[in-house]
Amino acid sequence: MIYDCVIVGGGAGGLSSALMLGRARRNVLLLTAGLPRNAPAEQAHSLFTRDGTPPLELVRIGMEQLQPYTTVHPVENARVVSLAHDKEAKMFYIEYQNESNANAGGFSIMMTAQVEEPKPLIRVTARGVILATGVRDVLPPIAGIEQFWGKSVIHCPYCHGFEHADKRFAYMGSIGPMAVMALQLLRGSWAQDVVWLQNGGTPALTAEQLARLKELNVTIYDKKVAEFRGDDAGNVQTVVFEDGTTLDRDCILIHPDNKPNTDSIELKDGFSYKIMHTDTMDIILKGQTDVPGLYLVGDLATPLHQLSTAAYLGGFMAGSLNMYLSTL
Ligand SMILES: Cc1cc2nc3c(=O)[nH]c(=O)nc-3n(C[C@H](O)[C@H](O)[C@H](O)COP(=O)(O)OP(=O)(O)OC[C@H]3O[C@@H](n4cnc5c(N)ncnc54)[C@H](O)[C@@H]3O)c2cc1C
Repeated sequence: MIYDCVIVGGGAGGLSSALMLGRARRNVLLLTAGLPRNAPAEQAHSLFTRDGTPPLELVRIGMEQLQPYTTVHPVENARVVSLAHDKEAKMFYIEYQNESNANAGGFSIMMTAQVEEPKPLIRVTARGVILATGVRDVLPPIAGIEQFWGKSVIHCPYCHGFEHADKRFAYMGSIGPMAVMALQLLRGSWAQDVVWLQNGGTPALTAEQLARLKELNVTIYDKKVAEFRGDDAGNVQTVVFEDGTTLDRDCILIHPDNKPNTDSIELKDGFSYKIMHTDTMDIILKGQTDVPGLYLVGDLATPLHQLSTAAYLGGFMAGSLNMYLSTL
């Protein structure tokens, strides 16, 4: 069978693409390893009609709502390992492994080292591909951080700041001018007691920015951070510096580096692609990458990492792909 589209990844982006293409009566194979990036958080927030829903419950609802669309075939615990393209035939070749009972892994800290039998490869063919693998967070090397990640060590105050409002905050993100904006934002909306953990960095700030920090009453700690300590429920309580001194904090905002999960998908037979930076109408008519029929959605396709943005891009790019499919 030749699918109209293979979607790689079933988070907010991929599930929205699947919904749109199902409604357009396209034959879709949705392959998903099944662990969205926000899985460490107890609830997802700032999401229209679903505020407070646990991340895996969102995925479950997304899958359930695909059921009426019988041309959409979801395969859970499926990890795509390679992608190739035949330009002349306008076909994509996708290889995946069924990982049932394995830890699907959407972010690095949940991966467990296991010695397993190699899984057989399954090869499928499609006219279009939507990459919706999301990104993974590379947390700074601070002892104990994984235990609190997504709960009291957070990446986005709009997602999780409300739950920690008026507690003792620390900001440990950028050490550049962005930090002043972030600290201002935290002070404006979520907390009076905010400190800046520079973690050994040396910010270059203007006199105006330094004056603003003073106005905001933000204490600066330039020492390197060694460890976060707290309770078993994921509540951070103490920042331990490398010099052994400590600071009590209840919530820490960080900006971890991100890596695209596509980096574990081998591009075979010399295949490569790049994202085109075009306007909306161009994307609808010509596509979003330099390869007709190939799209990226969700966190892969934007620096605005929110569920609503991922869902919007999933739907929008699926519409654009559907336009492309109608030309074949
Ligand atoms: C801790 C945390 C909390 C967050 N909380 C919120 C919040 O409250 N509100 C909000 O709006 N945003 C929140 N976000 C951001 C939000 O999680 C992302 O913007 C959103 O998940 C992006 O959706 P996506 O579909 O691009 O990727 P994801 O949701 O990460 O889904 C990608 C899917 O692809 C799968 N996958 C990866 N590689 C492969 C492969 N090779 N083959 C098959 N499948 C694969 C993954 O397992 C996963 O199922 C949070 C982020 C973090 C880190």
